[in-house]
Amino acid sequence: MLGTKQLLINGAWQDASGGKTMPVVNPATEDVIAHVASATAADVDAAVAAARAALAGRWGKLSARERGRLLWKLGDRITEQIDEISRLETLHNGKPITESRHIEVPMAVECLQYFAGWADKVHGETVPVKGQALVYTLREPLGVVACIVPWNFPLLLAMWKVAPALATGNTVILKPASQTPLTALALGQLAIDVGFPPGVLNVITGRGSEVGDAIVRHPGVDKIAFTGDTSTGRGIMRGAADTVKHLTLELGGKSPNIVFPDADLDAAIRGATTGIFYGKGEVCAAGSRLLVDRSIKDQFIAKVAERTKKMVAGDPLDPKTRLGAVSSKSQLERVLHYVETGKREGATLVAGGQRADIGTGKGYFMQPTVFADVQPAMTIAREEIFGPVLAAIEFGDVDEAIARANDSIYGLAAGIWTRDIKKAHYVASKLQAGTVWINTYNVYDTAAAFGGYKQSGFGREMSVHALESYTQVKTVWVDLT
Ligand code: NAD
Repeated sequence: MLGTKQLLINGAWQDASGGKTMPVVNPATEDVIAHVASATAADVDAAVAAARAALAGRWGKLSARERGRLLWKLGDRITEQIDEISRLETLHNGKPITESRHIEVPMAVECLQYFAGWADKVHGETVPVKGQALVYTLREPLGVVACIVPWNFPLLLAMWKVAPALATGNTVILKPASQTPLTALALGQLAIDVGFPPGVLNVITGRGSEVGDAIVRHPGVDKIAFTGDTSTGRGIMRGAADTVKHLTLELGGKSPNIVFPDADLDAAIRGATTGIFYGKGEVCAAGSRLLVDRSIKDQFIAKVAERTKKMVAGDPLDPKTRLGAVSSKSQLERVLHYVETGKREGATLVAGGQRADIGTGKGYFMQPTVFADVQPAMTIAREEIFGPVLAAIEFGDVDEAIARANDSIYGLAAGIWTRDIKKAHYVASKLQAGTVWINTYNVYDTAAAFGGYKQSGFGREMSVHALESYTQVKTVWVDLT
């Protein structure tokens, strides 16, 4: 047991004002591993007051370069404790330790230090106007930014927001998902340790419907940076309307991974499986719709199924494990429900389809699952499952591939597998998706923007583009006559 964790408000740890806590469950063992404070609207008020005071206090007076130094130091401190933080990430999320230790947490550090580098390079411009005037712009922080994040990459998705928000001089209220609060709380402690002034980074745990909603409606919050389900995003948009908040939404996906017959098929088979099964399929950009040319689909899907059957779930803390536990009981039930729906609607199950047992009789493990003969109108082709379930759909030619790929309310990512460079770039230009991968899948870099088209949301995370959505432009006119 990791004990009971408090809220971080104004640089101090405190219980929720109502005194309530909620359990954190390890999805690989079903054990309660910690309790965290279940915050109330009064705690949100306190966090907002602290964040506003910090803007007016020492933080607001720090030079941009000093802010950058602090962020860099925080990155170094995470690296010093990387084993412990990675373990926490695996314990509350169920992902393999190798993913936490060698992919997610290092990427979080990289993100922090990338934006640390930007801190003193964000500036305004002078503007040539008619008449005799000096006109210049100031690029200023928005104020208090609330970062509301999901449970699939708890630390990394928090960092995609916290790092650019702090680099540009805002203060932050971080609200992790109720299932995975531990690494956000650890981040809060490290921020205190390296010397962030009180109130700059507040961490509030609690239920989304209660504490999340209180944050979204709070008049003292200037921006919501949200990652999560599309339906939650719609509610947040409505809730933020009353106070006209800045908003960036990174929402769901149902991304197509398109295989043309002229592709390197062995590479495409690997790309099709890692595209969906990396992170247990709990990846917003997962290539959950495998679009395969009709002429190769039978042998291609058979090979994907063969490879899938070799992927066995295991103890997430074992460094050899490549497939961990589904994040929660309710998520496992949801995935199993979609599998039943797929069968009922007439898709052919060619791999997996059942709950998996790693030998302990415990844990929310799922066999990686592949469906063939999926029709574009089927539920499993349209709705985001957010689990290790692949839906294979055929197409006849390039135009049909594009049409089927774009036939979704989502537009987060897409993959293209072909050796024909003209076709690759033509299809990339036609796809409605924020990221297109050609002959690869699920690769990310802090320097490359990430975000959605259509109902996958708006605003971009990482890269220079993220800086725009955490700052506002003030135009200053000086009369020179
Ligand atoms: P979720 O929408 O249920 O929860 C996300 C966060 O919002 C949590 O912190 C939750 O507590 C909070 N929340 C819930 N209700 C709220 C409310 N009414 N007001 C304010 N906050 C509220 O999503 P989830 O199940 O945690 O995450 C999975 C979803 O996230 C998937 O749809 C996935 O595609 C999406 N996702 C998107 C991206 C991306 O970059 N586009 C990345 C990862 C995950």
